Amino acid sequence: MESKIDAMNKIQYDDSSRTTSEKGVEFIQALKPCKNGHLALRYSKFGACIECVRENNAKNRSKNGHKYDAWNRKWRHENKVYFSAHAQRFRMKHPEQAMLRNMLGAAKRTTKRRNLPFNLESSDIEIPAVCPVLGIEIRKTLGVGKRTDNSPSLDRIIPERGYVKGNVIVVSWRANRLKQDASIEELRKIADFYQRIAQKD
Ligand SMILES: [Zn+2]
Repeated sequence: MESKIDAMNKIQYDDSSRTTSEKGVEFIQALKPCKNGHLALRYSKFGACIECVRENNAKNRSKNGHKYDAWNRKWRHENKVYFSAHAQRFRMKHPEQAMLRNMLGAAKRTTKRRNLPFNLESSDIEIPAVCPVLGIEIRKTLGVGKRTDNSPSLDRIIPERGYVKGNVIVVSWRANRLKQDASIEELRKIADFYQRIAQKD
């Protein structure tokens, strides 16, 4: 499966190294360095060196950063259908990954809005099968944008510390919703109060 350009450049590949990215782009390891000396993966379709592409992109971005962003936004806007279809495919194929991304995205937006610290990666988060607070099932399948009591939800153990490593736990959306930003003391008062008045009858 050698492309025309590959044949012209006489690039030799390690055929066993063929890998496909999440987005369906195929890469292959070249056996000789590129003209800039990278012994890196190549785009199998064009033979371009991924290190060279990365360097060029970075150069362009630092030179024309703002223009680049505007262009990107415009392109995304004009190709909405493609992007939503791609996101849909990703959700179907990797429901748990998609869910983690969703939760991280939401957490990031919250930290930005409330000026809280954030340093999470998806590997920091584990979605349990059962809510550790309420014992109800946590459903890992991503619905059509609809959150239920059983949806996983990222909770800050100590809210003001923000979404940082060691300060987050996944609970059911119901548990998170009930707790909101209450302190342990407040939660205890709520439980005690209702227990007291319920026992009066
Ligand atoms: Zn290169």
